[in-house]
Amino acid sequence: MNTEEIVAADKEYFMNVFGERTMVAEKGEGVYLYDNEGNKYLDFSAGIAVNALGHNHPRVTEAIQDQAENLLHASNIYYFEIQAKLSQLLVENTCADKVFYANSGAEANEGALKLARKYFKKQEEDKYEIIATSESFHGRTLATLAATGQEKYQKPFTPLPQGFSFVPYNDLEAVKAEITEQTAAIMVEPIQGEGGVNPASQEYLQGLRDLCDEHNILLILDEVQTGIGRTGTLFAYQQYNIEPDIFTSAKALGNGVPVSALLARGDVAEAFEPGDHASTFGGNPLACRAAYATLSTILDEDIIPHAQNVGSYFKDELNKLEEKYDVIIDVKGQGLMLGVEVDTDPQMIRDKMLEKGVLILKAGKNVLRFVPPLIIKNEHVDEVIKKLDQVFATLNR
Ligand SMILES: *Cc1c(COP(=O)(O)O)cnc(C)c1O
Repeated sequence: MNTEEIVAADKEYFMNVFGERTMVAEKGEGVYLYDNEGNKYLDFSAGIAVNALGHNHPRVTEAIQDQAENLLHASNIYYFEIQAKLSQLLVENTCADKVFYANSGAEANEGALKLARKYFKKQEEDKYEIIATSESFHGRTLATLAATGQEKYQKPFTPLPQGFSFVPYNDLEAVKAEITEQTAAIMVEPIQGEGGVNPASQEYLQGLRDLCDEHNILLILDEVQTGIGRTGTLFAYQQYNIEPDIFTSAKALGNGVPVSALLARGDVAEAFEPGDHASTFGGNPLACRAAYATLSTILDEDIIPHAQNVGSYFKDELNKLEEKYDVIIDVKGQGLMLGVEVDTDPQMIRDKMLEKGVLILKAGKNVLRFVPPLIIKNEHVDEVIKKLDQVFATLNR
């Protein structure tokens, strides 16, 4: 099919939840994505923070091929060596004691919410309320939408599950005021992604940890976007000197193969008993093999310190652009999860970058979001900075 036929078929047969899409993507290779007409793009969107190792990474590709020749799926009524190995790897590299697998970020978060409620139910404590933050994004199932503090996402689907409330992000006093006898958990992203690349301050996460300890509340960190090296440590919480009781991982975990994880402290994890929670596909051999290959490559090849270094270089260069152009309000983020707040339409800048062969994202109302593969080099940053510079120069303000 040519481009026109593909777009026509999409419009006729596919539910229109994505609106006008950018291009027909056909092939990926390392940090580049190619469309069906052979155009090459430097991919600083990485499938929305998914392709941490870039496209078609040989170690992940080989693992998937080998797994496909042996066993794709056989139901969680059986044990799998690769699932056991992945669980061990995740636990050994984090504060978690136990893991559960699902297929998407929303599903891992849904599991986190269920686990928090079950934890208190098991102790016969009447605690079920979840405090989340405005501008958060936790997914699109009904419960994760109920935890997503953005009216535009919630409104079409009311009534939503009950027991959720919202406080402004990075505001500890607001959380204090919201806590009741029924509060079971506080759920936040260490850096709000979708909401505009807003990092939590050290005092905020430490303060949340202290509040949770003081009031017997569980701290849930949604690391669906921030996890797997994105911010310069395997998980973002590792830079804050605190440990969550429950956290989730998804986007980059399988480098593109759908897999997510719910991770928890031992006594919390034990609240789930046989029959409480399950998933047909969650953690199947293909998913686990992809995640194991991704995670072990990231760890063995020291990709995370590399991402941290390239990320600081990138941020410095963005800061130089900020000094040069008034239209840039702020540069924020950490590692290779960076945002540039602009006093103009971010979509327009995104389109101009696309014309120049660079894929970037937007977030929140007026933020350009950069979540490139963790394997990018300084020279790729230079190319993006040069093109951003050209685009900002045309804005003439
Ligand atoms: C993307 C994202 C989700 C939802 O993940 P899906 O795989 O789309 O369900 C949840 N939380 C955060 C922080 C995300 O960035």
